[in-house]
Amino acid sequence: MTFSGRAILVTGASRGIGRAAAIGLATRGAHVLAVARAIESLEALDDEIQGSDEIRRAGGAATLVPLDLTDLAGIDRLPSAIMERWGKLDGLFGNAGILGPITPLTHLQPRAWGDLLAVNLTANWYLLRALDPLLRKSDAGRVLLVSSGAAHFNRPYWGGYAITKAALEVLAFTYAAESNGTNIKTNVLNPGPTRTRMRAEAFPGEDPDTLPAPEELAPLIAELLSPESNRNGELVNFKR
Ligand code: NDP
Repeated sequence: MTFSGRAILVTGASRGIGRAAAIGLATRGAHVLAVARAIESLEALDDEIQGSDEIRRAGGAATLVPLDLTDLAGIDRLPSAIMERWGKLDGLFGNAGILGPITPLTHLQPRAWGDLLAVNLTANWYLLRALDPLLRKSDAGRVLLVSSGAAHFNRPYWGGYAITKAALEVLAFTYAAESNGTNIKTNVLNPGPTRTRMRAEAFPGEDPDTLPAPEELAPLIAELLSPESNRNGELVNFKR
């Protein structure tokens, strides 16, 4: 599986699953467009990519895209920049997300509800809307959006987060159906419990060493974003 010559946009690339995916894709030769707000963390990612002999040999590289995904005008600026440089986009890994407060639905504040929808749902819809023409120009445009088991549990106090992930799955599967007859394939990844900052925020008492590291997800993410994968409209659960 090689990503040589392929441009893949990864959101939430500054840490956790997105960072591991960015490195995994670059190691396979991709040019990664690394989106997040934390500029220093993005620069550290770039240093790691540039400093790796393995990635250099594979032809992998990164372009840093410091962006708050709630800034829709910022998302609107992406297509022309990508068009100019690559003339297409080969993949979108829509991974950035926030947990929000773990609290009863009736205690959730409108601001927190709005933030959850903006980052976990609206940003991904808007990215698809903005990038669809470029994904169509790829010989095999691949979209992978990151959901959560929480979308299916109806667990008390997790409603805000879970509702955004359930809606994200409908977004992904509807786009997958609408892309029939094009080169675009869209799937949803449920990573399962993974050793990241978000997981530690959700379960502060848990021993992180009992959880898979985000790097363990990288091969599956690469597989689902590769031109060789013809899966479409599937919910894919990571299993160790
Ligand atoms: P982290 O909290 O470690 O990372 C979240 C990433 O999202 C960061 O890179 C952050 O970058 C980015 N992000 C958040 N808000 C914004 C914003 N407004 N604009 C741009 N980027 C933003 O989380 P994980 O790696 O754990 O989670 C990745 C995905 O996996 C999420 O969608 C999460 O819901 C999902 N997931 C995770 C599980 C787990 O156990 N870890 C389990 C199930 C699902 P920055 O702050 O620099 O902007």
